[in-house]
Amino acid sequence: MRVRTGGCLCGAVRYQIEGPMRPVIACHCRECRNHSGHYLAASQAVRSNVEIVGIDAVTWYRTSALGERGFCSRCGSPLFLDWDNSDRLSIVAGSLDQPSGLALIGHIYTSEQGDYYEIADGLPQREKGCDGDPTTDLSGSPEWEA
Ligand SMILES: [Zn+2]
Ligand SMILES: [Zn+2]
Repeated sequence: MRVRTGGCLCGAVRYQIEGPMRPVIACHCRECRNHSGHYLAASQAVRSNVEIVGIDAVTWYRTSALGERGFCSRCGSPLFLDWDNSDRLSIVAGSLDQPSGLALIGHIYTSEQGDYYEIADGLPQREKGCDGDPTTDLSGSPEWEA
């Protein structure tokens, strides 16, 4: 079984993920842009497959009715989005150690994207989320990466 690792910039928080992960989706919503500094690219894993070392350094901040964002309280790196009513945990793609073996498959909430950039990679775009459910895959159920 593939094991992926990652963590924050300062190293206070590290994580290990066993098993498959969803391909990466970029979210352009106002909250993600504000929190990440640009748009937020994230994968997902089944929460019970994620082991977090240094979780005491993670601050959880609720920015929507849907879930909480987890970031390192020391260096500020965004790391996780913990969705209510779901067994999935979103993992910020930039925090994954390389190679991740994952690929970006599309963009969501393009209706809220910043006015200072264009999306020109030819990947699918959605003006809103995934039918209101942030844990739903972009189009149907793309194969998770082993
Ligand atoms: Zn840190
Ligand atoms: Zn977002």
